[in-house]
Amino acid sequence: VSTTILHADLDAFFASVEQRDDPRLQGRPVIVGGGVVLAASYEARARGVRSAMGGAQARRLCPDAVVVRPRFDAYLEASRAVHVVFEQTTPIVEALSIDEAFLDVRGLERIAGTPVEIAARLRREVRLRVGLPITIGVARTRFLAKVASGVAKPDGLLVVPPEREEAFLDPLPVGMLWGVGPRTAAKLRDRGILTAGQAAALDEATLVRLLGRGTGRHAHALVHRRDRRPPRGRRRRPGRRSMGAQSALGRRRTTPEAARVVLVRLVDKLARRLRSAGLACRTVVLRLRFDDSTRATRSHTLPLATAQTSTILVAACDLLAVARPLIERRGLTLVGVTLTNLSDDVTGQLVLPFDARARALDAALDDVRERFGSKAITRAVLVRRRP
Ligand SMILES: [Mg+2]
Repeated sequence: VSTTILHADLDAFFASVEQRDDPRLQGRPVIVGGGVVLAASYEARARGVRSAMGGAQARRLCPDAVVVRPRFDAYLEASRAVHVVFEQTTPIVEALSIDEAFLDVRGLERIAGTPVEIAARLRREVRLRVGLPITIGVARTRFLAKVASGVAKPDGLLVVPPEREEAFLDPLPVGMLWGVGPRTAAKLRDRGILTAGQAAALDEATLVRLLGRGTGRHAHALVHRRDRRPPRGRRRRPGRRSMGAQSALGRRRTTPEAARVVLVRLVDKLARRLRSAGLACRTVVLRLRFDDSTRATRSHTLPLATAQTSTILVAACDLLAVARPLIERRGLTLVGVTLTNLSDDVTGQLVLPFDARARALDAALDDVRERFGSKAITRAVLVRRRP
């Protein structure tokens, strides 16, 4: 069996946790986060509400939505519980963010069944043990598995057998391809290229002319389902040590809720910068300055390096919540975020196999970084972020 890669992705993660824990929210449009939308349930998405949208706009689109305060502890706990189910499914798990992971189930056929059977069981287990809906894409490569889960959402399972890859991919809108960001998709659409199949009909030189060298070559490889493996033996390049941004707040006394909105913007900006540099961070530092000119810093180190906005945001908002009494007492005049413990991001690479059971996952990732370098993630980032 060659279709052994599963991409498992929780549906509307934060919002689903809220619906799970409060039965009154089930079946209703739920928005997590009052200032900026951190997550929206599928009922709210059906009305046009999206993550990172301003709260006012979201409420205009969906006046009957229930807006709830985020409970990051509950999300982290749910994430950990789902990860336990992943680890019990296969030794080869690669966490992609707080709510999604790749699992390689090759070689498990005799003891656990076919990849499709394993995926179906995994979905049941997550529902039963954690109480959350999860969508799984099954395919030959990580890229196809990720695209498949995107198509199958919500609460779905989709298998792309090797002989169906072309038929699956070609009709999809270019924006659904993993690694093709909104700007690249818009550029392609401007030229009348709406689907992956239309992009696949162009030669590489044409795509390079349209999108630039890195993006064009990457897009060409994607639509032809080629896994451009990075050269071996690349060493990590020496890079910067940290990355930060800050925002001075007005004279008026800032509420914790307003501080959170500022924080979301800062993290969004920084995470994008992090990804476009092909980096990931492990430590999130929150810097605060108060009315009386005193300062405070709080930091959190994650178990795994990440370049995902949502993961960094959870950590940053957590730190802000902890500092809340201080903010209320002293009044806030500046919020800053610094990302440190930077390393090359490996999440865009096909890094299997390695035995995550024998080693801690982070050690395995370090090892992979040493062996494969950062080439693949640079490509993905170029596609997503550079014009
Ligand atoms: Mg998800």
